[in-house]
Amino acid sequence: MTWLHHRIWPYEASMTEEDSYISTLLCGVELIHSGVTCFAEAGGQHVPGMARAVELLGLRACLAQSIMDSGDGLPEPWANRTAEDCIQLQKELYRKHHDTADGRIRVWLGIRQIMNSTDDLLLKTRDTARELATVIHMHVAEIPYENQLIVKTRKVEHGTVTHLEKMEFLQNNLLAAHTVWVDNAEIDFLSRAGVKVSHCPAAAMRMLGFAPIREMLDASICVSLGTDGAPSNNRMSIVDEMYVASLINKGREVYANGTTDPTALPAETVLKMATINGAKSVLWDKEIGSLVVGKKADLVVINPRTWSMVPLHDSISSLVYCMRTENIVSVMCNGRWIMKDKKISTVNEVT
Ligand SMILES: [Zn+2]
Repeated sequence: MTWLHHRIWPYEASMTEEDSYISTLLCGVELIHSGVTCFAEAGGQHVPGMARAVELLGLRACLAQSIMDSGDGLPEPWANRTAEDCIQLQKELYRKHHDTADGRIRVWLGIRQIMNSTDDLLLKTRDTARELATVIHMHVAEIPYENQLIVKTRKVEHGTVTHLEKMEFLQNNLLAAHTVWVDNAEIDFLSRAGVKVSHCPAAAMRMLGFAPIREMLDASICVSLGTDGAPSNNRMSIVDEMYVASLINKGREVYANGTTDPTALPAETVLKMATINGAKSVLWDKEIGSLVVGKKADLVVINPRTWSMVPLHDSISSLVYCMRTENIVSVMCNGRWIMKDKKISTVNEVT
């Protein structure tokens, strides 16, 4: 909370649209180098700036504004917004930017997190998402304090997910980021509603804790991988996240069940989380997420003939345990090369 209130909010609140454009360019360059063709952004404050950068980079993205209508200590520009203001603002962004850049940009609705949302905002967001047929991006059950506060203020037995279930907020068009502090009953709620979970392993290790990923996958929840934003993970490489996800979820078995289980989260599962589950999480899997005739041409060329990847016995195992960002050579998005021979062709990354 100290980090959020005293570092991140003041910094974020002082950013201009131009800052947002430049930061999206920089993050995008790092994403492309790690072989990312599509990302979902939980939201800064300037969707138009982000959209301009995404259009130029040639990436595919689901963009949302990070929305808050309540909570202690909110910086000036966001402090006096009503739930209705928040909805109108996002409808306008949707109207201007949704399905732009040759269909590469989609606009979603954002909820920063429950501690900064009234129930009115949650319900209006749920209904507006249905009306616009779009997706909601929300940080969910990040820290124990969040659950404790929700138990106290909203009078529910467990925490955020229990409250969202009671409000009928949980739907298959919700991408729940982090989702660390959930119990078995809540995993069941998420599963039955078809909620998608974004596992951001590096950010989890830095600040949040071990998410029950194996249990969520066992409950047939679609779990994908994220880097989280730069404030909580300075690396934007999905290659690093695949490696970290595989390690921490094996290591967590000792902590959660008191036994070592190296079969937890096998390499095949981690690769799926980074590819097809990512596409399912953004409700775009009819067009992207696998190499299939008829889908969009989003693809990554990898050179495995480096000291870090040879010898190559099992290609999936090598992709998860050996590959480095440097092994990604070329990236195509929407049928267009956006990086060739490690050089990004859409922007000049040198200056
Ligand atoms: Zn986050």
